[in-house]
Amino acid sequence: MNAPHAELLAQLRQTVGAAHVLTHDDPATDLSAWEQDWRKRAHGRALAVVRPGSTAEVAAVVSACAAAGASIVPQGGNTGLVVGSVPDASGTQVVLSLMRMNTVRAMDAANLTMTVEAGCILQNLQDTAEKAGFLFPLSLAAEGSCSIGGNLATNAGGTQVVRYGNARDLCLGLEVVTAQGEVWQGLSGLRKDNTGYDLRDLFIGSEGTLGVITAATLKLYPLPAAQLTAWAALPTLDAAVALLGLAHQHLGAGLTGFEVMGQFALSLVDKHMPQLRVPLWKDTPYCVLLENSDSESEDHARAQFERLLETAFEQGLVTDAVVAESLAQAHALWHIRESIPLAQAEEGLNIKHDISIPVSRIPAFCAETDALLQREIPGVRLVNFGHLGDGNLHYNVQAPEGGDAKKFLNEQETRVNTLVFDAVARYHGSISAEHGVGSLKADHLPHYKDPVALGLMRAVKQALDPHNLLNPGRVLTP
Ligand SMILES: Cc1cc2nc3c(=O)[nH]c(=O)nc-3n(C[C@H](O)[C@H](O)[C@H](O)COP(=O)(O)OP(=O)(O)OC[C@H]3O[C@@H](n4cnc5c(N)ncnc54)[C@H](O)[C@@H]3O)c2cc1C
Repeated sequence: MNAPHAELLAQLRQTVGAAHVLTHDDPATDLSAWEQDWRKRAHGRALAVVRPGSTAEVAAVVSACAAAGASIVPQGGNTGLVVGSVPDASGTQVVLSLMRMNTVRAMDAANLTMTVEAGCILQNLQDTAEKAGFLFPLSLAAEGSCSIGGNLATNAGGTQVVRYGNARDLCLGLEVVTAQGEVWQGLSGLRKDNTGYDLRDLFIGSEGTLGVITAATLKLYPLPAAQLTAWAALPTLDAAVALLGLAHQHLGAGLTGFEVMGQFALSLVDKHMPQLRVPLWKDTPYCVLLENSDSESEDHARAQFERLLETAFEQGLVTDAVVAESLAQAHALWHIRESIPLAQAEEGLNIKHDISIPVSRIPAFCAETDALLQREIPGVRLVNFGHLGDGNLHYNVQAPEGGDAKKFLNEQETRVNTLVFDAVARYHGSISAEHGVGSLKADHLPHYKDPVALGLMRAVKQALDPHNLLNPGRVLTP
């Protein structure tokens, strides 16, 4: 190890305690949990994994790294899907894990807010809010492992966006350690504050490239009196879009989830997880999962759902439907939806896209892009599902049946990405709806992002992190 690195490590050990600075010096220490991404596609090598326990320690770590010129990769639960939270292979980057900072600092019932540290696991925050009689509505399949800091740094979406918005919409204030090691105290619980540029919104979604989020003030909502889930079979994607419009009309703010699932996606769950008993999928090209959260009562929610589904049947939008009779049944239906990525992984390696398109144009986009891909790569299989309520599709591409998936990925990934992203651009969509850019999409961004926007982003990065120490190469390429 060179002298400056040894000096930096000594300083970091002094700052956070030797037990919280993990390095390869000790051959018994396995750093793969911090060095490898969730999909196991990227394997980096860190100079050290540093685990501070307070904002003051984070600030001291960032200052020490800045003085030594060592770049920093902030990390939460490491569940990100765009390779943004793991170090590169150089062995010179410091992984800054926030997971020891997991305290709920304050709960303000009258203001409907809670102030929490960045390393709090999302599911624990949902539980904390519920115990206090409130709902914290951010919800995604990784909620048992991901951190609120990571959720904010990626502006995570999930299944409730149609009603409550993205992570950005659920955050009122932030505490951030800047690239210079200063602490910005922006933990405001204010819903109105027009005193200049919105720094909070700048840091949210910046994927660790502008500052390290150490705490946040989050919005809380009243717990719904009832939450009902329905599963419907639909003849076309156009019908799904029409059903979404009808659901908005009938349920209003009660519509808290609207997920679409293509037949092939559900067939993979049926094949690899037969114990889950997927309903209605065999005779229909699409199924939809709807959630109605009601502030009155279960009877009211059920009556609303019945009226909605009756109208949908009359209009030919739905051919069959089931409404969950119990919470356990509702969870089972959601579990099927959330098992699609795992079923897909069981089927083999695949090419993932997290895209958004204006909802009204999704049927045309899918018809055109499905046909294009099948023409260009005969036998290719399309796993199409996602948060239709937000215009967000997970438009994934699986190798032809029986083919060598690894070879398919090596040979076709670049071509498939170009075909899909060009189609997204033609439909005025986004190549990253909710997962972010990371390093996986950083090279694509210059092709698809407005050049003026890209220039402004570079100017912001230059102003906030002039030495490019925070998560270099992520979001923006040099
Ligand atoms: C099974 C599964 C399902 C998923 N479903 C969804 C979904 O429905 N919607 C969705 O949006 N995402 C989803 N994701 C992606 C992922 O869970 C989210 O991106 C999540 O917000 C990441 O949180 P994390 O704590 O794991 O962050 P990490 O993976 O550790 O980091 C993600 C990014 O944020 C940065 N970062 C992390 N913490 C901080 C911090 N405190 N300050 C500054 N930067 C930081 C990192 O540098 C990195 O760039 C899913 C992932 C999995 C594995």
